[in-house]
Amino acid sequence: MDALVALCKRRGFVYSSSEIYGGLAGFFDYGPLGAELRRNIRNAWWEDMVHRRDDVVGIDCSIISHPKVWEASGHIQGFSDPMVDCKESKQRFRADQLYFAAVIVAGEKIGYVSVLEDAAMQAEADGKALDMKRKLAKQGALEPVVLRDYTEAKPEEYDLIPSPATGKPGSLTPPRAFNLMFQTHVGAMTDESSVAYLRPETAQGMFFNFKNVVDTTRVKLPFGIAQIGRSFRNEITPRNFIFRSREFEQMEMEYFIHPDADWQKEHRAWIDWCKNWLISIGLPASHLSEYDHPKEKLAFYSRGTTDIMFNYPFGVQELWGIAARGDYDLKQHVKFSGKALEFFDEANKSKVVPHVIEPAVGVDRILLAVLCAAYYEDVIEGEKRTVLRLHPRLAPYKVGIFPLVKNKPELLARAEALCARLKRRWNVFWDVSGAIGRRYRRMDEIGTPFCVTVDFDTIEKDGTVTLRDRDTTQQVRLSEDALVAELSKRIDGV
Ligand code: ATP
Repeated sequence: MDALVALCKRRGFVYSSSEIYGGLAGFFDYGPLGAELRRNIRNAWWEDMVHRRDDVVGIDCSIISHPKVWEASGHIQGFSDPMVDCKESKQRFRADQLYFAAVIVAGEKIGYVSVLEDAAMQAEADGKALDMKRKLAKQGALEPVVLRDYTEAKPEEYDLIPSPATGKPGSLTPPRAFNLMFQTHVGAMTDESSVAYLRPETAQGMFFNFKNVVDTTRVKLPFGIAQIGRSFRNEITPRNFIFRSREFEQMEMEYFIHPDADWQKEHRAWIDWCKNWLISIGLPASHLSEYDHPKEKLAFYSRGTTDIMFNYPFGVQELWGIAARGDYDLKQHVKFSGKALEFFDEANKSKVVPHVIEPAVGVDRILLAVLCAAYYEDVIEGEKRTVLRLHPRLAPYKVGIFPLVKNKPELLARAEALCARLKRRWNVFWDVSGAIGRRYRRMDEIGTPFCVTVDFDTIEKDGTVTLRDRDTTQQVRLSEDALVAELSKRIDGV
């Protein structure tokens, strides 16, 4: 992970936001390569989710909307995480990410240990428990260290659990709800009447625009409304690089189905669609898994939620949530707005409030997963190289184009003309400096899948150029027309 973060900085994928002022926790800026990669992820999703399907349309809503939206959606009331403060260090933690366990030796409780959620937290807790046993010189067997999260702590345990910041008990507060929405004011007045919120999700836009879309398009049930856009959450502990940030981008789709439809079948179909899509953009199936939220932890209106999990270097974590939300959201907006949000069911000649399946994913989480899966260090001709094996569809540059030498005008002109031709279709990187091997390495490191070299044979013999593949490093000679056809096939699949 450290090597990947360093590469992101070094090659201009991701910077911390406003870095010259020391950065701001939970905010990131994308550099020239990161901006391209992000755009390619968004475009691939939009093309496959909206353009290539006949049953999904797209919308693009404002980030700030009427504050009643968030009353209706339940966010003002309930969009909070449990927070715990350490009074001594002044640090804040998410209570459900702070784990603790009683340390029991030969049946006697000798104290508590605490750790922050992490792939290695069990080993860390075991180590701390062993240390405690040694320090207190307790004889007998150490019982298994059973971790629970702080939301499950009993009030009498709060004072006994050590703070992860200081290692000492007595400074942690009980958990309390912390609303994650960012507040602002709209207009010149800054009083209660002007409070508004930066949206914490894009999904509500699809619900409060339901009638607009139905009235202005020819959609028929089942159909989906999709949106890509920025969302904001004042996360208590932003962490793991861009995995959990305070400003991020979501790609969400609300798929409206008839209330009598088999929701389980539709839900399963969307889980499969999302998984296959992730595989299609290059994530290995072996890194993906599913997590079904236990029934007792679901919101009362929810019928079922399955997360597609990705095996990140810091642990298996949620990448994409697919929720079956019934008709809760539309009905809430009917209640709060007083407007009917229905669909006329031709078959039964009656109005129905559709139910919804919601696949919701973060662009930044996909981007991180894509980079983690693509990062390799290998050895080519005895030389170590860092390579990003990005799917051609996502790669920031699709082709690097190199004239073999820079002091031969005819050769340069030929390469420039080819570069201009390829640039009409793809993002192409022009590089004239350094040995060809070094130019290849620079392209490998930023994930450019193909490099094309224009050499003396191109201008003096048969007009062919060399196409080199990033992953196999194999080279073939092709005419310029054959090159364009080959690149089309390998980048665009046509
Ligand atoms: P988590 O449990 O990780 O906080 P969530 O279940 O609250 O996520 P949703 O509200 O279902 O997330 O949001 C849908 C998707 O948006 C998530 O699956 C994730 O990909 C993305 N997402 C949510 N919160 C963040 C964040 N703080 N930073 C980056 N992406 C996020």
